[in-house]
Amino acid sequence: MSTTNLAAPKYDLLPYQALENEELSGRIQAVREQMGPELVILGHHYQQDEVIALADLRGDSYQLSQLAAGSQQCRHIAFCGVHFMAETADILANRPEKLAEREGERVRVILPDTAAGCSMADMAAIGQIEDAWEQLAAVLDTNDITPVTYINSAASLKAFVGRQGGIVCTSSNARAALEWAFARRKRVMFFPDQHLGRNTSLAMGIRAGQMPVWDPYASSLGGNTREQLLQSKVILWQGHCSVHQIFRSEHVAMFRKKCPGIKILVHPECSREVFALADESGSTGRIIRLVEEAPAGSKWAIGTELHLVNRLADEHPDQEIHFLSPMVCMCATMYRIDLAHLCWSLENLVAGTPVNVIQVDALTARWALVALERMLEVS
Ligand code: SF4
Repeated sequence: MSTTNLAAPKYDLLPYQALENEELSGRIQAVREQMGPELVILGHHYQQDEVIALADLRGDSYQLSQLAAGSQQCRHIAFCGVHFMAETADILANRPEKLAEREGERVRVILPDTAAGCSMADMAAIGQIEDAWEQLAAVLDTNDITPVTYINSAASLKAFVGRQGGIVCTSSNARAALEWAFARRKRVMFFPDQHLGRNTSLAMGIRAGQMPVWDPYASSLGGNTREQLLQSKVILWQGHCSVHQIFRSEHVAMFRKKCPGIKILVHPECSREVFALADESGSTGRIIRLVEEAPAGSKWAIGTELHLVNRLADEHPDQEIHFLSPMVCMCATMYRIDLAHLCWSLENLVAGTPVNVIQVDALTARWALVALERMLEVS
């Protein structure tokens, strides 16, 4: 689906891993100066601080892809995020009208460590989705079902959704995407994150009993009866984010007791129980905005990735900001992108032996773009 390593790298990774961050930062800076605006380094909000410090743009996955795709001069993107984000950047930066503007010249997207995947995205493989769709066809009319995929999914799933008349959503426009879907067909199949699908659907008045969960490892019908599927409004894929799943109701209770007046602020990838107990919720962008707009003295316990929460606490010393769990939990795959991988990939890029190039095949990109463009209609 995505290609990597076009030629043998000029430089090996191993020596880079022995270098101090200071030296690595200086060498990355030198590559940036040499390449100028042709190179854009993107840093996801969940990324570690040393990497964020060197990023040209900081944001969530969709903001970053859009920003990079909109740049006139950019020819190379180093995406300090995870695999599905680099795929989305490749699709958007190399969509037909952009290629035409550049007379066919592609923007090259590099993921400094290709092992930086997303455990949630990995919970829904295209073969499993196609198998589920086939099984559903034996019980329901699939012409009545709109598939909706969270942007945190492989390009192959986005392409499936594009072909089947569905839509991609983000955590900030999930409700609008579901409304778009229900305006067209009577059911939705939502993947890969059950929590975002459930939390959004409950807020729209859909009952829990109308949301069967599809277990891709069950022997038939995702572990559901025919009746459950016939009564369904939203069929939820059994996927989750390992980071956001750690937050529990007892953590909310603990902070409320320990810090009177504290506000609980969570991402919609959290469980239904935690989401229901929170004072505020929203995408990464909304979480940042709420903290930025809060008055001095505000108290927050935030249920999202640790690096972002710590950065918010550093940037807003006039507020009291806690991580909503006594356990330390970061996005381990995002954390794989460190200065050593970034420096190694950039120096190979300059040497003409690019490594870890993410390029989505043309047919997949075409259909995935259809689903992404539908998302733009409702954003
Ligand atoms: S925080 Fe969760 S959803 Fe986001 S990239 Fe990491 S594993 Fe995937």
